[in-house]
Amino acid sequence: MTDIFSNVIRRLDKAAKIIQIDPEVIHQLKHLTAAMEFSIPVRMDSGELKYFKAYRAQHNNTLGPTKGGIRYHPMVCMDEVKSLAFWMTMKCSVVNLPFGGAKGGICVNPKELSPMELERLSRGFIKRIADFIGPDVDIPAPDVYTNAMIMGWMMDEYSKIVRHHVPGVITGKPIALGGSLGREDATGRGAYYCIKELEKRLNWNPKNIRVAVQGFGNAGQHVAKLLFEDGYKIVAVSDSKGGVYHSDGFDIDSLIYMKNSSKILKAVYCTESVCEEVEAEKITNEELLALDVDLLIPAALENQITLSNASEIKAPVIVEVANGPISTDADEVLQSRDTLVVPDILANAGGVTVSYFEWVQNKIGYYWSETKVREKLHSSMLREFSAVCQMKKDKKVDMRTAAYAHGLCRIGEAVSAQGTRSYFAPRE
Ligand code: GLU
Repeated sequence: MTDIFSNVIRRLDKAAKIIQIDPEVIHQLKHLTAAMEFSIPVRMDSGELKYFKAYRAQHNNTLGPTKGGIRYHPMVCMDEVKSLAFWMTMKCSVVNLPFGGAKGGICVNPKELSPMELERLSRGFIKRIADFIGPDVDIPAPDVYTNAMIMGWMMDEYSKIVRHHVPGVITGKPIALGGSLGREDATGRGAYYCIKELEKRLNWNPKNIRVAVQGFGNAGQHVAKLLFEDGYKIVAVSDSKGGVYHSDGFDIDSLIYMKNSSKILKAVYCTESVCEEVEAEKITNEELLALDVDLLIPAALENQITLSNASEIKAPVIVEVANGPISTDADEVLQSRDTLVVPDILANAGGVTVSYFEWVQNKIGYYWSETKVREKLHSSMLREFSAVCQMKKDKKVDMRTAAYAHGLCRIGEAVSAQGTRSYFAPRE
């Protein structure tokens, strides 16, 4: 496997060239604060004792406590978690949150565990890292294949260990356990707000816009649903096993109902709970990415568009709902073809933004309405989307470089405030 971390930090150098920034800032961001690897013992239902490898990487805490999700996936490794933590640092800065970046993961296929094994594993994770997290230290959240229930178990376990209730240690919790209204669909909704801005700027008529969505988990489902409700034509969707395509588009509510009730992605039309199969072509994930559509939304895992398939991408606009779906090398191919890419650190920042709102509500012990959460998310996404577009225009760069530069300015200010070489060097 290629080293993702050293690959992704190359983007820092590119962005640093277009702004005034102390080289020490870039230097600092190429190193992690801490990275932990540990194993979690779990008593399986069969009585057998199994060990699961787990990780937590804390990338940088200049702007505040580190923040980022925990994923459960068989391919989780340290290199991946480090890269994801780095993206969290950049993401939090881009949308002006008082957080640094972190990410964690367990190397496991959660679909193979019983609900009780999953609970023991999740509580086991917290037992191992309790000393290294906390509401003012490092705050986990959901990510790939983790959800509100898992966050609830984790918060409960942490509270038991420290012997008092600490809802602010984890975000993305169930509402009944201190979660925030509006957190469940926040990642998809944040991306949707970005797309609505594109709609204005590119003069789109939703009815004429054909969309392909790779990945039908939480974020993919919500962005597809919101776009569908606005009249966009969702012509293709996929999950880890493959996808479906039809040029007329699908009824997204039906696909979501089917996927969530039976765990199967199928082209269907449902009236209440009665679903009928509709005509569709079965496609692979590779084929979905190469479809001739107007908008491509990768919402699955990282490194889906690489040097090997970048030249096959036909969509003129890509909105990265997943973290890191486009490799650094592929960036250049897409730029040479004038593909507009709304980068992950902006497009999927809605999730961590509402996580921040949840953390604030936990700290003050007062809870907001869903309308208030959505309004705040909307204005924050709009403000930062416009700022990134302005940077793109002023510096004549692609949107990813603009977003990195925008985020770097904020971290740069904080690092400089603590003093860099010019302050500490001996005076003549
Ligand atoms: N896992 C999400 C992300 O990658 C959310 C992180 C959070 O809410 O802390 O942005």
